[in-house]
Amino acid sequence: MLSVKEIYVSLQGETSRAGLPCTFVRLAACDLRCSWCDSEYSFAGGDPRTIDEITAEVKALGVRLVTVTGGEPLLQAETRPLISRLCDEGCTVLLETSGAHPIKGIDYRAVIVLDLKAPSSGEMDRNHYENLEHLKATDEVKIVIASEEDYAWAVHTLKTYRLETRAGVLFTWASPPPPGSVELKAMPPAHHRISMRELADRLLADRLPVRFLPQVHKVVWGDVATGK
Ligand code: SF4
Repeated sequence: MLSVKEIYVSLQGETSRAGLPCTFVRLAACDLRCSWCDSEYSFAGGDPRTIDEITAEVKALGVRLVTVTGGEPLLQAETRPLISRLCDEGCTVLLETSGAHPIKGIDYRAVIVLDLKAPSSGEMDRNHYENLEHLKATDEVKIVIASEEDYAWAVHTLKTYRLETRAGVLFTWASPPPPGSVELKAMPPAHHRISMRELADRLLADRLPVRFLPQVHKVVWGDVATGK
């Protein structure tokens, strides 16, 4: 049984598949509190559903690109068999994970989208760097960038681990958090926000081998990413 917050169809917003119609399976609960998180509503609640029920609902929605996200999907033991089942059913499966939990052994057919948390998230200490050894060329590493300090860290991390030789690399601009967030970590007050345009200009000037992304769903629908 898995605790499911919502299953819905929207545009993929934060990977190399950005802009494609996609079914999202959003699982409940997260053990991080990133300063710019747009999914606070997934921290609590969730309905119990079996893998059979989730698979049937995904198939009924008719979009075979599927993102398993959260919250943090890897907090639930049945997430791994769910991914395998969706792959068996012919779905292209993306797993979005915070990077704080081991990815070793996840079905090789799935695309792992692994976050590395930059300093302005407030959760940098949770990065599980051993995960980098388990990436495939078809996987993606995503760094969400909110500040000048994040950008400097991301460039350093890119070069230190030669991330582009391990997987695709995404630099995603972080929208400010929705107003009224009470549970999230605070962005360090000494950090300097970077605008979307500044981020694009910087990575072009620095000739970085990364893909720039805004959060596409937010460009279209605004701050809160949800199927409701
Ligand atoms: S952005 Fe951070 S706090 Fe929000 S769901 Fe993802 S890992 Fe959890």
